[in-house]
Amino acid sequence: MTESTTGPIDLDAIREKYAHERDRRIRPDGARQYRSAAGEFGYYAKDPYTPFTERDPKTDRVEVLVIGAGFGGLLAAASLRTAGVESIRLMDEAGDVGGTWYWNRYPGVRCDIESYVYMPLLEEVGAMPTERYAQGEEIRRHAVRIAEHYDLYRDTLFQTRSTSLAWNEDAGEWTVETDRGDRFAARYVITATGTLTQPKLPGIPGIERFEGHTFHTSRWDYDYSGGTAEGGLTGLADKKVAVIGTGATGLQVVPLLAESAGELLVFQRTPSTVDVRGNRPTDPDWAAALEPGWQRERMENFLAVLAGEPVAESLVTDGWTATVGLQRNIITGAVDDTLTEAERALADELDDAATMNRIRARVEELVADPATAEALKPWYRYMCKRPGFSDHYLQAFNRPNVTLVDTSDAQGITGMTEKTIIVGDAEYEVDCVVFATGFDTGVSGVMSGTLPVTGRGGRGLLESWARGPRTFHGFYSHGFPNLFHLGALQNANSVNFVHILQEQAEHVAAVIARAEHEGAQRVEPTVEAEEGWLRLLRETGRDASAFQAECTPGYYNGEGTRAITPGFTYSPGPISFHRLLREWRRGDMSDVLVGAEAAS
Ligand code: NDP
Repeated sequence: MTESTTGPIDLDAIREKYAHERDRRIRPDGARQYRSAAGEFGYYAKDPYTPFTERDPKTDRVEVLVIGAGFGGLLAAASLRTAGVESIRLMDEAGDVGGTWYWNRYPGVRCDIESYVYMPLLEEVGAMPTERYAQGEEIRRHAVRIAEHYDLYRDTLFQTRSTSLAWNEDAGEWTVETDRGDRFAARYVITATGTLTQPKLPGIPGIERFEGHTFHTSRWDYDYSGGTAEGGLTGLADKKVAVIGTGATGLQVVPLLAESAGELLVFQRTPSTVDVRGNRPTDPDWAAALEPGWQRERMENFLAVLAGEPVAESLVTDGWTATVGLQRNIITGAVDDTLTEAERALADELDDAATMNRIRARVEELVADPATAEALKPWYRYMCKRPGFSDHYLQAFNRPNVTLVDTSDAQGITGMTEKTIIVGDAEYEVDCVVFATGFDTGVSGVMSGTLPVTGRGGRGLLESWARGPRTFHGFYSHGFPNLFHLGALQNANSVNFVHILQEQAEHVAAVIARAEHEGAQRVEPTVEAEEGWLRLLRETGRDASAFQAECTPGYYNGEGTRAITPGFTYSPGPISFHRLLREWRRGDMSDVLVGAEAAS
């Protein structure tokens, strides 16, 4: 037994309880329990926001094609524009820019990272978020503003999915084909297609039989619900609504559904952690007093704090910065070398237990009914799931029209009929089912094969990566010239992922600008550069599989079946990675510029 600020900690009892809660949730079908919102369920992924527009196919040539118009693609395009590139084409399946913020417009949608460090290019476009944790619509409009500011709407292909990228060696450019009949050429291609993009549904037996209204949170049906993302969902006033899923999305959508629905049933399998949010309007005096360069400084500071790097003062203090030691288990960075590994592991575990005890105590404090409070308590280590924050979610269960349905004994919902949802022996009649059940992981872009890439000599990218991705710095691969990947791939990560994308975008734009300046024939890493990078990833990689294996199932650990592969990310962390990239850029880039004057 150890004392902490939240009382005594019995680590043995906590470990036993965590193992029990994990074991009873592990399903033999693991990640196969889900169905993609495709094929038979494709209507769940249909765009409810922008009417389909016919257009003629493109057969022209562009300098740079950017696939994906979320923040990654926008930042890449903005950096290229700043570097003087005129011919940039943005392509996206959505009807406009914004990526995740285009699709996710559900009631209550907000950024859960402080908007002053999350929303990029605030100073560049002259914007200031209205709140500390901005609403989704404000973030989506910010994406539009970036596109307008950098004149990126000039040549866009929305409602378009690329179906093939093939390298044309003679012309030294990519031939791009799409599902709209386009066939055009691009000298450079940047893929920024995101990670959690394809909505997924639970493979509930009978799901297709349900005759009431259903939709996924990332395709909200306001025609049915009425209201806006700020609430007032008058269409639900006489409805019995079920929401399935209590992840980061469930936490945001439940409070507004609770206010509007006649009756709300929240189907929970594993509770999220729900820590204090503390949102507030932006203080105009604070904003007016900010010095030029403030945003970059704040972003760097937040990244450094989360990466465990020393800083004089933490500028953002919130639930993320308070749990840095706990995040190390998933998102790596600097570690305290004054402790042995075993000492560090024990200190982390005690810290974790104290945090989780506090979070469990908060549930008891805020939820009136003791049985409901008990079911809402999370029993796992802090980073087993995406941490959650809300000052409204737990309180929603005190409303007379809201019921929590704990499905954990049955390992989730067991069936659906024309009118009902079944959990074990119990059956619940509902009018509407909202699926807050998340997204397929790793399906988008080149990794999934949904965008086939054929490089030099007719070699497929996935064929070339049959034994795992092979890149230099996570950006490019030998045999696939002038092709750049943005996102989480053999590089460093952070919860403030847009910051990560911004650094990547600036790097890629700098490499393209240098290639053009030096008249390089192409950008393509040498085999040696690629191998050196893979070796470094292996040598510095930290193995999180033991931590992952003890977690309750979820998408972080492949539903309890798979651990994060060591070496997949750059474990020394983002500050170290960005420093490494900056230093590399100061060199001659000879390991990627082929046929450049300065590099030859
Ligand atoms: P998640 O995958 O995190 O959550 C899915 C939910 O559905 C879980 O609670 C899961 O339970 C539940 N579920 C799945 N199948 C069943 C079933 N058969 N019966 C009952 N329940 C079921 O998806 P989210 O959309 O909530 O979040 C995805 C990610 O998107 C987040 O982790 C975060 O990275 C991001 N996000 C970010 C936000 C932000 O503000 N920045 C806001 C929202 C999302 P179980 O846990 O037991 O599997």
